[in-house]
Amino acid sequence: MIDYREIDNSDAWESFCRDYLVAQDLVVEIPPGRGPDGGRDLLVKEQLKGTLVTRPFTWLVSCKHYAQSGKSVGTEDETNITDRLAQHEAHGFIGFYSTVASAALIERLKDLRTQMKIEEFKIYDGARIETGFHDIGLSGVLLQHLPVSHTSLRPIHPLLKEYVPLQCENCGKDLLKQSVRNNKLGILIFAEKDEVIHTVHFVCKGSCDTKVSARLQRLGFSDGWDDIDEYCNPLIFFRRFTGHMAELRNNPGKYSDKAHAQLIDLYLAVSQRTLRQTNEEDRQEYFSVRELEEIGF
Ligand SMILES: [Zn+2]
Repeated sequence: MIDYREIDNSDAWESFCRDYLVAQDLVVEIPPGRGPDGGRDLLVKEQLKGTLVTRPFTWLVSCKHYAQSGKSVGTEDETNITDRLAQHEAHGFIGFYSTVASAALIERLKDLRTQMKIEEFKIYDGARIETGFHDIGLSGVLLQHLPVSHTSLRPIHPLLKEYVPLQCENCGKDLLKQSVRNNKLGILIFAEKDEVIHTVHFVCKGSCDTKVSARLQRLGFSDGWDDIDEYCNPLIFFRRFTGHMAELRNNPGKYSDKAHAQLIDLYLAVSQRTLRQTNEEDRQEYFSVRELEEIGF
């Protein structure tokens, strides 16, 4: 759960809003001038693609940061909506709030839409903004503006730009993304026969897990399992990793080549949540280390 009080003033909230929207590949403009309450509206420009016609669409984004008081944003806080849209020739309205919009404000926006005074509206309230962080690519914004929440949420950050998913082998769902939304949804199953782990299987808990386990049992494997979520805890991650090394030292034949490669895939995927966020400097250093290794140093 994100505590938006970490952002301590409305200017910082505006700059968080801008970075959040830019990270979602939106084109954001900051028009000059401030509103009567000192707040500034931002503009988001999109191209709406119809079958025959493409046209520009501008959203007016109103940023309100009431997390300190916890009060909702009401009609008294959002005044002159249609005038503000007209001033910037905007078509739609976005409320970007660290709390929630009041029921009266939502009703007012619905009325304006029915009267065709605004074409569309969207509310990014605290919960919706947080949901955005469950996806990939926004982790840097969270780290920059809400570092304490970043530590507790541990969102996904690709280690080397390209994201590596961890898919359920039965339904294809990304178990790593699920691990951010909800704990303990994915497991890994070790298929063991004659004291060798032949394969490792990544599956959702429940029907996918039942199906894959039944198949393995029919093939004569015994199946131990582990919660994938635990690997997202840095302490357990490290314990599993060193445990794995110890296992290999004691018994180099414990894992088949395939199972070994699958475990490396697992560590790589979960590292995108468990390790700290990498920056450009880390990546540069990584590439030079790799180059040196390749030429034999
Ligand atoms: Zn599944």
